[in-house]
Amino acid sequence: MVVPALVAALLVSTIAPVRAQRAEGVAALLRTAPVSRAVEVARSIEPQTLDDQVRFCEIPAPPFGEAQRGEALRRTFVALGLRNVRVDRVGNVLGERPGRAPRPRLVVAAHLDTVFPRETSVKVVREGTMLRGAGIGDNCRGLAVLVAIVRSLNTAQVRTGGPVTFVANVGEEGLGDLRGVKALFSETLKGQVDRFVTIDNAGIQLSAVGVGSRRYRVSFRGAGGHSFADFGRPNPANALGRAVARIAEFRVPANPFTTFNVGRIGGGTSVNAIPEEAWMEVDLRSSDPATLKDLDSRLLRTVDAAMAEENARWAAGSRITVEKKLVGDRPAGSTPASSPLVRTAEAVARVLGLSSIPSEASSDANLPMSLGVPAIAIGGGGQSFGSHSEQERFETTNAWQGTQNAVLLTVALSQD
Ligand SMILES: [Zn+2]
Repeated sequence: MVVPALVAALLVSTIAPVRAQRAEGVAALLRTAPVSRAVEVARSIEPQTLDDQVRFCEIPAPPFGEAQRGEALRRTFVALGLRNVRVDRVGNVLGERPGRAPRPRLVVAAHLDTVFPRETSVKVVREGTMLRGAGIGDNCRGLAVLVAIVRSLNTAQVRTGGPVTFVANVGEEGLGDLRGVKALFSETLKGQVDRFVTIDNAGIQLSAVGVGSRRYRVSFRGAGGHSFADFGRPNPANALGRAVARIAEFRVPANPFTTFNVGRIGGGTSVNAIPEEAWMEVDLRSSDPATLKDLDSRLLRTVDAAMAEENARWAAGSRITVEKKLVGDRPAGSTPASSPLVRTAEAVARVLGLSSIPSEASSDANLPMSLGVPAIAIGGGGQSFGSHSEQERFETTNAWQGTQNAVLLTVALSQD
């Protein structure tokens, strides 16, 4: 939409005071004794927060194998006095902290899972101010800060406005395909969540734009045969080649940033055999749901066209078929920059003297965003390097700033 200059000027002049008001509201909150105490505590307990971070990280949590790390979080929630601590059907660990009123209900979450297979070493090594270990930032930082929020609020005896539900959830990474938050919003807390914040990895990031993705495994299949004796049959590898060549020519918008990738290909058994199967894995991404849907249908049409072209090329009776299997579906979504949730998160960072860095991300917040529930992803402070690699590192200097940010944000978002 094009906004005429005059209207734009009016919008700016009304937005600026709203922003100032919100910052003033957060600053006033921070001047109240329990809240200022909680923010101090968040800093003073940082050594314990880092110990938690290491402790959680040294429990393996491969995709679909988060139960053991989940149990450590469950015990911690119980020890901290959260109410109704439970593990839901898919393995999400939940605990409640009551507020003065029953609503709004805020959920603060952090994902349990890593991208690493079970056999990966999860030993953490401390080198000066650096922690080195697979998953140390993504997402043991998020889990440690989740726990630090509860500890800070308890120590300072803060009563929040509405209740806060703390969740250590499964299934954020890769083929986990957001199954933790999907279950949370469709069963465990269905219809009960008013606001959602996920703490994912490090930094003072603020992400209100969720990049969606659709992933397919596409398999062309045919009769196969001898390369010489059966020459003339349609070839699944040829069909795959036709499809890849067409995909390579896709034109996609730069804004919203939209991407496609043929990530893996395979098939066939021998140089002198017509393959029975040739396959590829394709990843499509966009922060705009309509654009992603459009790209998705373009991919499916292209694959069908490649099959038809290959079948038409050869006169022989045998025909190839194609299977398009959806192996990843992460909905795109966003929380408007003008929403109270985003404004409050910006104000919290500003009041603490931090600059939150707006970013587009793909996180657990995508799912509530796609359902219209206000949601953001934030970082847990510190700095991370080499996420999703076994060389992952976490720089602890000033990491407490992220803990403070998360504590004040939790209190601010629990208000009406
Ligand atoms: Zn993560």
